[in-house]
Amino acid sequence: MTSEIRHLSLEELLAPGRDHDCAGMGPDHVCVRIAAVADLPTRFGNFHIVAFWNNRDDKEHVAIVHGNPVGAEDVPVRIHSECLTGDALGSLRCDCRDQLEASLRAIAAQKVGIVLYLRQEGRGIGLLNKIRAYGLQDHGLDTVEANLALGFRDDERDYAVAAHMLELLQVGSIRLMTNNPRKIAGLEALGVKVRGRIPHVIPPNDYNRFYLQTKATKSGHLIDFDPERLGARSDRAPGAGRTPEPPRAMVGAA
Ligand SMILES: [Zn+2]
Ligand SMILES: [Zn+2]
Repeated sequence: MTSEIRHLSLEELLAPGRDHDCAGMGPDHVCVRIAAVADLPTRFGNFHIVAFWNNRDDKEHVAIVHGNPVGAEDVPVRIHSECLTGDALGSLRCDCRDQLEASLRAIAAQKVGIVLYLRQEGRGIGLLNKIRAYGLQDHGLDTVEANLALGFRDDERDYAVAAHMLELLQVGSIRLMTNNPRKIAGLEALGVKVRGRIPHVIPPNDYNRFYLQTKATKSGHLIDFDPERLGARSDRAPGAGRTPEPPRAMVGAA
């Protein structure tokens, strides 16, 4: 019954979120409100999309909801930060599109699940600065060094909006699909009940391998680089000569 919920009934269940008001969550007193709910059939399965207003940025964050989250426990949740180059353009400099598609597919197969799609491009530094950081990486810096060179912390994201969105979706507790323990700590600090972690590892490609290694070694991501487990494969024909290393600018491009 929960997975077959009609959008009108979900809309009714989430109605209290429409005129929600509170003193705010976290140090910035973030408050969000549900602006709209609609059906969202996708190539990955059927969802509802819930659009949120918030008082912190001018961005329009959304939740992509499968089934009925109201009062549900252990709900699989993926928090995805927008990546125009990856999500929409299919860039190979990162693994964002693969992560997004894998999470939508996995959640559509569950009774209930949520992808929070946050419009915090480039780990919060914005599209323009992300492209600037790419430019620096083309000259040999890694993703963390490039952000620091531009005057940003490694990760400018803030999870108060996400935590508050989950509150208005009336989720009881979640299991977070992530390789990043900082996300779990960030959400728990804001009162979200995180009952566990679902690993979310996508095999690297030749362009994002260095980026993913940097996330693992410098940003505390739990990514196992054992080639067997990641399903890495060589495109080289058996017996073919050694493929020359791609230039550093390509390897470090992420
Ligand atoms: Zn509020
Ligand atoms: Zn990306």
